[in-house]
Order: sequence, then C-alpha cells, then structure tokens
Amino acid sequence: MIEKSLILNSTATANALARLRFYLPYVCDQVLGLTVVSETELRYTCKDADSVPHIESIVQAMLNDSTDAEFLDSLQMRPVFDNRTAPCFCKHDLLPELLEGDHLISFGPGQYGMGHLFLKTFKYFERECYRMALKQGPEEFVYPNLIPRKLMHYPDYGTDQDATWFVPGTQTPEHLGKPAVCLHCYPHFSKRTLPGDTTLTTQGRCYRYEGSDRFSPDRLWEFIMRETVYMGTPIFVRNSLREIETLTVEWMQSLGLRAWVQEADDPVSGSDFTASVPLKWELRIALPASGASLAAASFNYHADHYSRPFEISEGGNTAATGCAGFGIERLTWGFLAQYGLDTKRWPESVRKEI
Ligand SMILES: [Zn+2]
Repeated sequence: MIEKSLILNSTATANALARLRFYLPYVCDQVLGLTVVSETELRYTCKDADSVPHIESIVQAMLNDSTDAEFLDSLQMRPVFDNRTAPCFCKHDLLPELLEGDHLISFGPGQYGMGHLFLKTFKYFERECYRMALKQGPEEFVYPNLIPRKLMHYPDYGTDQDATWFVPGTQTPEHLGKPAVCLHCYPHFSKRTLPGDTTLTTQGRCYRYEGSDRFSPDRLWEFIMRETVYMGTPIFVRNSLREIETLTVEWMQSLGLRAWVQEADDPVSGSDFTASVPLKWELRIALPASGASLAAASFNYHADHYSRPFEISEGGNTAATGCAGFGIERLTWGFLAQYGLDTKRWPESVRKEI
C-alpha cells in the first residue's frame, strides 16, 4: 500500500473538489483512501505504483468535468455478474396456476394477497435478505410506512418521483406512502455528525403507483422492501455497496437463477460528469415465459444527494450515503417463474427452508 500526494496544476473550485471527494472512489476501486488536503493538493492511498497513472488520469478527466464517452466506458466500475445462460425449468406463464391454487389472490391491479407456496417462498427470501443484511453489522430500525409530506423539505421527495408516489384519494394528503424504505433514514439522521461509518437496515411496506392496467406480480402497488443504508466516507459507502453486491451475486449463483447485474434502466446521461456516471445498478431476474425480466434489487450510490440537504456529516465533511434495496415479492416471483411449483426441482437450500 502506498500513499501519494497529487499537486493539482491550478486551484480547483469547491465544486471540482467535492466531485473528486464523492465520486473518485466510486468510479475507481483502486483508490483505497482519499483526503482533500487543500484546493491544490489531494492525498490518496492505493495498492502499488502500477495504479498511479490510471488514478491520476481519472483525476485529470474529473477536474475537466469530462463526459467523454470513451473515458466513461474506460471506468469499468465493477465486475459484471451475468448468469443469463442458466437453464430454467419453468417455461410457461405461472400466474394462472398461482391464482388457481390461492398462492396469489388478486384484488385488482397491483394488489395481491399471498398464501401457500408463494407465501412460504416469500418468507424464505425475507429471512435470507435479513440474514444477508446482518452480515454487515447494521443497526436495525423500524420506521412508519407513511411519511409526512411536511418532513419532505428536500425538493426531490415530492417532485421528480411524483410519477410513482402512491397518493390515495384526490385531496392533497399530509402523508404519503413511501416508495422506498430508506427515505426515513435521512431525516432520522438530519443535522447529525456521525460517530463513524454507519450501517443501518430496515424493512417495510412500500407503495408505488404502477398504473391501473398492471396485473403482473412484478408491478405491485404495495410491497415489502428490505434495505441497508450506508453513511460515512465515500470509500466506506463504496466498499459496503461492493460487499453487499458480492453477497447477493453469490446467493443468486447458489440458487442457479437466470439473473444478472446491469446499470438501471433509468437513463443516465448528463451535461456534466456526475450526471453521466451510472449510480444505480440492478439485479435483474429473467421471467422465461414472457422473455422479460424484473429488477429484484438495486445498489445505489447517492454521493451527497441526501446528506447535503439533511446536513448529515462525518469527520468535518458532508457524509456520503448509499443503499441496497431488495424487493421481496419480486425475488419470490422471479424464483417461482423460473422453478415452477414442483418443489422437487428446487435447490435444496430453498426447499429445506419452506
Ligand atoms: Zn434506498
């Protein structure tokens, strides 16, 4: 391990320094430690001298706020998991069978009750997500499902996600059903200085309005989500996200699922570097009968998106945050869509748990 000091050619702006602090570790795993010493000096740690030219070329491009496609492609931010060639036992549409056997009970678009084998499989995925979350030593919290609108002084909460906010009734309500369970974590830690790198986990019911014509179990209006949230230095958040992604990939491989990790569908392209870097990656599971796939988990790096408006800090700096979210019904539906209802074909690790 070596420590390097990098003297910048000219004085960097506050924005450029913040960009380096929050994004350099995220786009370059070779950076193992990073301190912004002054507006003309960075100090970083890396494994050996071989990493130095690569790291310093990224720093230069980031100082120039580059959105050059070749540069962005060269970042290769993570190992790719691709199990798209795994065989699937079930090739027919399982939904009619699930409904007929009371495994799922339809109450209209986006609304299902669960019973029998769907519920047992759901409970397996719920337990397994919890076990996986505990491996990272989190503090656990339970939050309400509804979130007060007045708490959402942060502009994005009520504006750019309006399309999926679930708003019952026609009047403007004082509370909203939250679309992700981590949304209470940021107001919870508002105006706090973290005692150190912090990991939280929570599970709850989420609400998303997916339209009145969506009957597929991967487009539920309400569903259970397990999330782990990381707050601290950008390097801690990056390492934690990589770790949970690795745990997830190993789990998917052990289940033999036809699944892969890719950049999220939400379009990423922008006029500056931070808007051009993919910050959200998804675990996708194939639905063999339709040829489609669903997003069952996501790994999200927020940089200072939440910590700045909520004034969450660590070590005298604005903290970085990130989260990993798991949709339990979607994991269940993806698994059943590939394995069918004949448990004799299922992996032993799941069969013995239901
Ligand atoms: Zn989240």
